[in-house]
Amino acid sequence: MKLHCNDCDKRYSLSDFKYGCSCGGLLEIEQDFSNVDSDYLKQKFEERLSERVTPYASGVWRYKEIIFPELEDRHMITKYEGNTGLYQAEKVNQYLGVQKIWLKCQSENPSGSFKDNGMVVAVSHGKSLGFNKFTCTSTGNTSSSLAMYSSLSNSQSYVFVPDKNISLNKVLQTVSYGAKVITFEGTYDDGIQFLEKYNNELGMYICNSINPFRIEGQKSIIFEIAQYFHWNLPDWIVVPGGALSNVSALGKGLRDLYDLGFIHKLPRVLLVQAEGASPFHQMIRNNESILKPEPHPRTIASALNIGNPPSWKKAKHTLNTTQGITISVTDEEILNAKAVIDQSGIGCEPASASTIAGLKKLYASGEIHPEETAVCILTGNLLKDTEVLQHYHLDDSKNSLFANPLFKSELIIDSIINL
Ligand SMILES: *Cc1c(COP(=O)(O)O)cnc(C)c1O
Ligand SMILES: [Zn+2]
Repeated sequence: MKLHCNDCDKRYSLSDFKYGCSCGGLLEIEQDFSNVDSDYLKQKFEERLSERVTPYASGVWRYKEIIFPELEDRHMITKYEGNTGLYQAEKVNQYLGVQKIWLKCQSENPSGSFKDNGMVVAVSHGKSLGFNKFTCTSTGNTSSSLAMYSSLSNSQSYVFVPDKNISLNKVLQTVSYGAKVITFEGTYDDGIQFLEKYNNELGMYICNSINPFRIEGQKSIIFEIAQYFHWNLPDWIVVPGGALSNVSALGKGLRDLYDLGFIHKLPRVLLVQAEGASPFHQMIRNNESILKPEPHPRTIASALNIGNPPSWKKAKHTLNTTQGITISVTDEEILNAKAVIDQSGIGCEPASASTIAGLKKLYASGEIHPEETAVCILTGNLLKDTEVLQHYHLDDSKNSLFANPLFKSELIIDSIINL
């Protein structure tokens, strides 16, 4: 394994671990699969599906050989992340007017979001280097996940949170796991710059979205989906985009599977952004070669409220290699799609529902044919954002398409029976 910079093509050995290249580019893990016996691995991955207790029961470590083969077993942390459900839902099919849609529920992860798939690998890597202090700047699920794995592995996490636009549920989850949460006046970018500048003084392992080990761990989402379908993927994989680490990992995982000969055809990737925070979609739509940051990102989907996504070049690479496309959706479209997913008994946070909202538009316009099949990655849990739920169902229910307000009734049988 090596660290590789896609911008200047420089390589670093793993023992010389860095968060970024000297040229300013992002680093990516490069693996050599030339000596890998794919049939043997495929069999091993099948056998591990029935594991219950070892770290290999994890939906991430099941694929250790193509995620982080060098890691010694004693450094593997796990909370049995991954192994999330893949569902079909009648109400969602009806909403879209098509039949073959699957929902991959990363919301079932231990801290309630897909961030666990990547974080478990980053924290394990940090522990293997001897770190006992971990840090990140985040407005949400990254911090909950980091706090959980740090405490689980008897380490201390330090989470830097901009004091505006924070989701109270997520901060409370982070505080509860025992992180030291530092709120500061400034933006997410200010926080990242601070961590990079004082990296040496702080002596902490940094787990921001550009950490290349997080990307490696997040590849497991597509590995699980591919294994479920016996290495024969549906036509489309649909994913929401904020910082764009998930779509980058998705593309890398697909390329790995292709290089290893596990799959012989790449599915197409659909990336969905929220309209008020869609600099990547704008760049693609306008055929521009450089991303123009959105200085005032604004969407109700807090996990997508990012104006300057650091991984945009990697995301572009995913689109190029999969004939991928992008689309943006409004907050209203997100919330209505979310209500349909929730009322299917599945549930997700607003950011995740953008996938169904995006698909709906593309099926309606004919850009995706009704016969084409798709898996949507539902990234976060329904309870991550209760303020949004309160607003949609209780406070503003008149304007919500699928509101399910409370009934006020006397306990009289005739009133109840007619509900
Ligand atoms: C982080 C997150 C996203 C966005 O993923 P990126 O990798 O930042 O593009 C979407 N949904 C949820 C629930 C998230 O936590
Ligand atoms: Zn470089």
